[in-house]
Amino acid sequence: MRYTGKLYRPPSEARSYILQATIGCSWNNCTYCDMYRDKPDFRVRPLSESLEDIAMAASAFGPRVDKVFVADGDALCMPMSHWEPILAALRAAFPRLRQVSCYAMARNVLEKTPAELAALRAQGLTVLYMGPESGDEQTMRELAKQPRLAGVPRDRDYLFDSHVAAAQQAHAAGMKLSTIFLLGAGGVARSAEHAAGSARLITAMDPDYLAALTLTVVPGTPLDRTRHRKGWQLPEIEGLLGELRTMVGDSRPSRALFRTNHASNYLPLAGTLPDDRERIVQVIDLALAGQIPLRPEHRRGL
Ligand code: SF4
Repeated sequence: MRYTGKLYRPPSEARSYILQATIGCSWNNCTYCDMYRDKPDFRVRPLSESLEDIAMAASAFGPRVDKVFVADGDALCMPMSHWEPILAALRAAFPRLRQVSCYAMARNVLEKTPAELAALRAQGLTVLYMGPESGDEQTMRELAKQPRLAGVPRDRDYLFDSHVAAAQQAHAAGMKLSTIFLLGAGGVARSAEHAAGSARLITAMDPDYLAALTLTVVPGTPLDRTRHRKGWQLPEIEGLLGELRTMVGDSRPSRALFRTNHASNYLPLAGTLPDDRERIVQVIDLALAGQIPLRPEHRRGL
């Protein structure tokens, strides 16, 4: 239970034991993200250290742990030679363990073989958190969402397509997929395309869990510099809610638990898609009409 730097985890992992098996993010280049810029040298922790941490956590609160989140930024990139002993140690340490999860880029999923993903699932890695943030190819490229995979032509929608392919592989392995989209990610200039593309990507990825967060431009990030140099602008609140309306109204996941309860959002919502689509869209319309109070600015957070 030794940690390096700031830790990040999804809101739904608030009560999970966090194992920091990697330090930083292997990509660390998304223009809006400053989560791991204080850890520029990505590394996989030595396996012995991770196993020691699990042993410490087991003696401190073993019977109480039922969920584990493996940090940091894209821990799925760890080799199988780390994942398999870590998952075995977690199963042995925590008798009530029912879920192990981690963040993953599409690239991390596609770099594992289907057999490796199935083995990870069988050994307990059950949930992947993926953040395409947008489904608009141009917006995703401007966000530098992830490097182009070797051999993929530049003129292809490689970011959109790689997220779809990664989602299909995760589903095929039996993993649950939690996706994160970012209101405002296209700025004012590509707001409509960002919303429409995101709805298309939600449909194509067909996640089990779907979350929308609101972009905050963090000082010192490349996006902040673009804002100053090129006039990049975050949409106003009405524009952000309009994007949310499009993402919910136009996407067609087969069954997704939907949440906007992250502190960055102006309008906390929850429901299941498609069952609650009409109700959620109505609530967004009421908010757009000023008939529902929004979270005040001082109560919002990253
Ligand atoms: S992949 Fe995730 S953690 Fe890494 S830079 Fe992008 S948003 Fe940040």
